[in-house]
Amino acid sequence: MIEKGLLIVLSGPSGVGKGTVRKEIFSQPDTAFEYSISMTTRLPRDGEVDGVDYFFKSREEFETLIEQGKLLEYAEFVGNYYGTPVDYVRETLDAGKDVFLEIEVQGAQQVREKFPEGLLIFLAPPSLSELESRITNRGTESSELIRRRMQAAKEEIELMDLYDYVVENDHVTAATSRINAIVIAEHCRRERV
Ligand code: 5GP
Repeated sequence: MIEKGLLIVLSGPSGVGKGTVRKEIFSQPDTAFEYSISMTTRLPRDGEVDGVDYFFKSREEFETLIEQGKLLEYAEFVGNYYGTPVDYVRETLDAGKDVFLEIEVQGAQQVREKFPEGLLIFLAPPSLSELESRITNRGTESSELIRRRMQAAKEEIELMDLYDYVVENDHVTAATSRINAIVIAEHCRRERV
């Protein structure tokens, strides 16, 4: 029988750099993880391609997917839905491949409940002040929005105990190495007879 793959979930507060770490992992030629492309109702940004970055859906289409039970988890984030297609995840894990999700924290909580064997990794900022300066330096948000995002980040950081591992994102390559090491260790731990 083929060993099932591992479901690897990378989550953490908004602004911590999840997307950058995920891109770094998938830019490595020896990465053996399969990236699960999410569904979203947000509009594509410049350069984003349907079926590559996301599957872009209307709200109506997304709500039908929810009703049909086609999502492993989903959440509303800044006015848009985001969700993980359950069939892709199950088929890929059954084929013995590791699946990698990069999702926000409400979704990670749902994976914890619905898929307890998932490996949950929390990407943490070196400090709250560092997170604030990262969000501020993006230059895209008003001071009120920054304040709200910082409040949300504090609440998200309190959920850290739900996770199997906490990885500090002090530097993208260091965080990536830690994640790769965790996955190797987790395979060794789970596959022993
Ligand atoms: P963005 O709009 O910047 O691409 O993503 C916004 C947030 O949604 C990020 O925190 C990202 O990790 C999260 N996200 C992307 N895909 C999913 C998903 O399938 N489920 C959940 N719960 N969050 C997602």
